Amino acid sequence: MNLCDIKTIKQVMAMFSLNFRKEFGQNFLTSNFVVEDIADSCCDDSSSTILEIGPGIGSLTKELAERYENVVSLEIDRGLIPVLKYTLGDYKNVTVINEDVMSADLSGILAPYFEKGKVSVCANLPYYITTPILMKLLESGLPFDYITIMIQSEVADRLCSPAGGKNCGAITAVLNYYGTPEKLFTVTADNFLPPPKVDSSVVRIKLHKEKPYRPVNEATFFRTIRASFEQRRKTLPNALSAVFSELSKEDITSAIVDLGHSPDIRGEKLNVAEFTSLSDKLYELIKASST
Ligand code: SAM
Repeated sequence: MNLCDIKTIKQVMAMFSLNFRKEFGQNFLTSNFVVEDIADSCCDDSSSTILEIGPGIGSLTKELAERYENVVSLEIDRGLIPVLKYTLGDYKNVTVINEDVMSADLSGILAPYFEKGKVSVCANLPYYITTPILMKLLESGLPFDYITIMIQSEVADRLCSPAGGKNCGAITAVLNYYGTPEKLFTVTADNFLPPPKVDSSVVRIKLHKEKPYRPVNEATFFRTIRASFEQRRKTLPNALSAVFSELSKEDITSAIVDLGHSPDIRGEKLNVAEFTSLSDKLYELIKASST
């Protein structure tokens, strides 16, 4: 069965009396070479387990199952579970779980697979919830090898922007703390059913095994990044003072200047190493001011 064929997708949905659910971001891939390319490039070790989020009717799942040792697919839509039993019945290395990835206990679900070897993530993500899913995966602390996701091109450009680039955002800095993102290719909207309004891109993130930057206090590090991007038109001292109300603007400005930056610099110009040094300074100041 060709699960990318538009006629087949419509037939399978009709057979189970299902409609495409917009609230779950259901835009299914209709191009064999796209699902094959994603499956080929999401991981470089065939003995890996792949966690897939949102298998839909199983087009990408099938390609993953043919290339990797195990596939664990989380699907929120209960209606698709019997469909997946039907389309993936021959693939004994696929486990489909009817769960919302946002509430799923990823550590518990994946523990037996991490015991066996490497685990990577591969997903054509629903647009409505891309960033929360990515943040959940990163913050889980699970030692994924790669996270490969198909997302809106605009978001992909943000994730893969160099520090200081015009597309750079707080998520860019946070992502570079956890790993190295790379934009692989773009997929136009006419490769989906129903077609979304915008094009998509595939981004692969190689997670750091050992993080190259280690802020003294991670919460302050993330707070520094968030504050730096919250009001992009403000200079860094102004943007940080608006959030770090426990510190004086003079102290914040001195911290920035001590690190070799101009007081007029904007937060988006800093890279992860510079955010680490700055947040360490701010953390020192906060500790000193509370003693
Ligand atoms: N993988 C299929 C493909 O490429 O054709 C479908 C991708 S479609 C863009 C997104 C899929 O994610 C849908 O099957 C949708 O039901 C599922 N989904 C949406 N929100 C989800 C969530 N919170 N947890 C798990 N699956 C979700």
